[in-house]
Amino acid sequence: MMLVVSGDPPLSTARTLLDNAAEKLPSPNGVALAIMELWEDEHATVNQLAHLAQTDPALCGRLLKLANSASTGLRPVTSIPEAIVRIGLKTVGELAVAFSLIDVNNYDERCQSFDYLGFWSQCLLMALICRELGRVTYLAPPEELFTCALMARIGLLAFATIYPQAFSDLLDAKPSDLAAAERQRFGFDHNELSAEMLEDFGLPEALVEPAKFHENSGKADFAEHSRGAKLATLFHLGHQLAESCLETSISEASQANRTKTLARRLGLPVEQISPLLRQSLKQWQEWSKVLELPEAPLPPAGTPGAADDPDAATPDSKSKKLQALLIHAVGSDHALQQLLETRSIHVHACHEQNEFLRLALQIQPQLIMIGEDAAVEKDRLCRLIRSTEWGKKVYIMSILDCCDSEQTTQALSSGADICVRQDIGTQELEAHLLVVQRFFDLQAKWEHDRAELRRIANELALSHRRMEVLSLTDQLTSLPNRRSAIEALGQAWSMSERTDQPMSVIMIDIDHFKHINDHFGHAAGDQVLTDVAKALKADIRQGEGIYRMGGEEFLLLSSLSDIKQLIVVAERLRRRIAALRIDYGEHEIQLSISLGVAQRGAEHDHFDALLSAADKALYAAKDGGRNRVCFYHNDRIHTINPSAQG
Ligand code: GH3
Ligand code: MG
Ligand code: MG
Repeated sequence: MMLVVSGDPPLSTARTLLDNAAEKLPSPNGVALAIMELWEDEHATVNQLAHLAQTDPALCGRLLKLANSASTGLRPVTSIPEAIVRIGLKTVGELAVAFSLIDVNNYDERCQSFDYLGFWSQCLLMALICRELGRVTYLAPPEELFTCALMARIGLLAFATIYPQAFSDLLDAKPSDLAAAERQRFGFDHNELSAEMLEDFGLPEALVEPAKFHENSGKADFAEHSRGAKLATLFHLGHQLAESCLETSISEASQANRTKTLARRLGLPVEQISPLLRQSLKQWQEWSKVLELPEAPLPPAGTPGAADDPDAATPDSKSKKLQALLIHAVGSDHALQQLLETRSIHVHACHEQNEFLRLALQIQPQLIMIGEDAAVEKDRLCRLIRSTEWGKKVYIMSILDCCDSEQTTQALSSGADICVRQDIGTQELEAHLLVVQRFFDLQAKWEHDRAELRRIANELALSHRRMEVLSLTDQLTSLPNRRSAIEALGQAWSMSERTDQPMSVIMIDIDHFKHINDHFGHAAGDQVLTDVAKALKADIRQGEGIYRMGGEEFLLLSSLSDIKQLIVVAERLRRRIAALRIDYGEHEIQLSISLGVAQRGAEHDHFDALLSAADKALYAAKDGGRNRVCFYHNDRIHTINPSAQG
C-alpha cells in the first residue's frame, strides 16, 4: 500500500465531476446495438460479449471499475474477459444495455465540435496497434496493453461530456497545444484526466503512468531504459501510428521519421512496423463494421459537425416535431400513421424486433406505439426499452385488442404508460395525443432547465477547480506547495497510524542560495529553483512526493520502510544536484543541497514532530559543512560518512 499517491496536486474536483459524468460517457451506437442484440440471445458467451465490449472505452472503464470494486484484496482486473467472468454475464449485459443509449445526438448535451466517431475510431486502432506491439516486445501482456491503450484518451470524451460547450469552444479555437489550452481553461488536461480515470477503473499505475505520456513519451520522467520508459514509448508509437493512418494533415516525411525514432527506442527493427500495422488495420476494419465507424480516412477531429448525422434533428425542429416509432400496429398501421402525420408527428414503422432496436438507436423516438402481434413479446420489449437511459423518458402506448383489466395491468406493469384499444376512434386517439404532446412539452422544458443548471454547476466546479489547483501549486516551480504538503502529510500520517505502514520525510535545502541571488541576480535564483525542482521531481519514484515548502526548501515524502534505502534516496538526490550545471547567460551555475532524513517512530506524536526531527538532521548537515545527508534515528543524529561523498 502506498502512503503517498502522487506529488502532484490532487485532481479531487475532477474526480467528483467524473463521478457525476461517468454514467454519461457515450458509447458508439453500433456497439450498443450489437450488445443489445447479443443480450437478447440466450446462448451468448463471455467471449462474444467481451469482443464487443472491448471496442468501447466508456463501457470498458465501467466494467473494470465494477470488477475491481467487487474484488478487494485480489489482484486488480486488467482485461475485459476477466472482468466479465468476475461480474457475471447477466450483470454485464444489463449494465451495457442500461448505458448504451446515451444520446450523443441530444443537442443540449452534445459537444458540437468533438468528433465522436473519429475519437472511437482512433482509440480502437491505437489499442489494436499497441496489442500487436505487445506481442513483439513482450513488455506487458498484449490484452492489458489493448485495454489500457483503448482508454488512454478517455479524458477527451470526458471533457466533451462534462463541458460540452466549453470544450467545443476550445476545439473551435484550434489551439496548437490542446493539452496546454485545457490546463489553462480547466486546470488539468485530457492526459491527466485519462490517467485519473484509468486509476479509478483499477488499472495498475505501472501501466497508467506510461499511457499518460502516449502523446509525447519524451516528457515522461522515467529513468532511461526502465520498463516505464519503454512502455511510454510503446504507447507513443501506437498513438503516432494510429494518428498517421487517420489524420491526413500530418506530413508523411515527419511521420516516418518519428516512427523510426520511436521504433529504434523500443529496440524494434523498422521493417517490422509495416506488417504489424497492416495486421492491426485489417482487424480494425472488421471491428469498425460492428461499431458502424467510418473506415476511410476520417475528417480531422474538431471539424464542426464532422460526426453529424445528416438526418438528425436540429434543436428547433426536434422540439417541434415528435418522433414516433410504430411497432406492429397491424391493420391500423396506415390509418394511425396518417393521423399521426397530420399532428406533425414524424412516424417510423417497423415490423421486427431487431429492426426496432436499430431504428430506436437511430432516431431515439419520444413516442413508441406497440401494436398487437403474437410474434412480438410485448412485455419483454417494454422492459428492454425501460432498462435503457433513453427508454426511461420515452412515452409508451400499448395497443391492445381488448383492454380488459388483466391485459391492462400486465401492459402497465411491464412499463407502458397507457393502453388503448386497437379499434380506438380517431377523436379519442387525438385526445390521447394531446396528453402526449403536453407530456413532451413539459419534459423538453424540464430538460432544458436541467441542462442549464448543469452548465452553471460545471462552470462553478471549474472555477473552483482552477482556484484549488492554484492554491495548491507553487507558481514558480509548478511543484505542489506547502499547503499541499501539509495536506499530504496529514493524510499519510493518519494512514500510517491506522495501518502501521512506514512514513518518512527528507527535508532539502539549497546551500548558500543567498549567494546565488547576490551574485547572479534574483532572476538567476528563480531559474536555479526551477531547475532544481525539475531535477528533484525527475528523480522521485513511485510512492514518493516532492513539495516546495517555501524559499529554497523542499520536502520529499516517502513510504519507504528501510532507513538505509531512504539514505540511498537522499544521497542520490544530493549527487544529482551536485552534478547539475545550470546555464544562465554566459554563466554556468553549480550548487549543492543539504538533506535531513527522518522516519516516523514511537517518539513522534504528530507529523510536526517528524518534520522537526528532519529539520534537526538538516541543520546538522549544514553545520557539518553542507552538501551532505544527515539522518535522525533512535533520538540521535547520524551523518553519512563525508569521505564517501563526492
Ligand atoms: P544555507 O546554506 O544556510 O541554507 O544558506 P542560504 O543562503 O541558502 O539560506 P538563507 O536562508 O540565508 O537564504 C535564502 C534566500 O532565498 C533568501 C531569499 O531571499 C531567497 N529566496 C527565497 N525565495 C526565493 C525565490 O522565490 N526566488 C529567489 N530568487 N530567491 C528566493
Ligand atoms: Mg539554503
Ligand atoms: Mg533555507
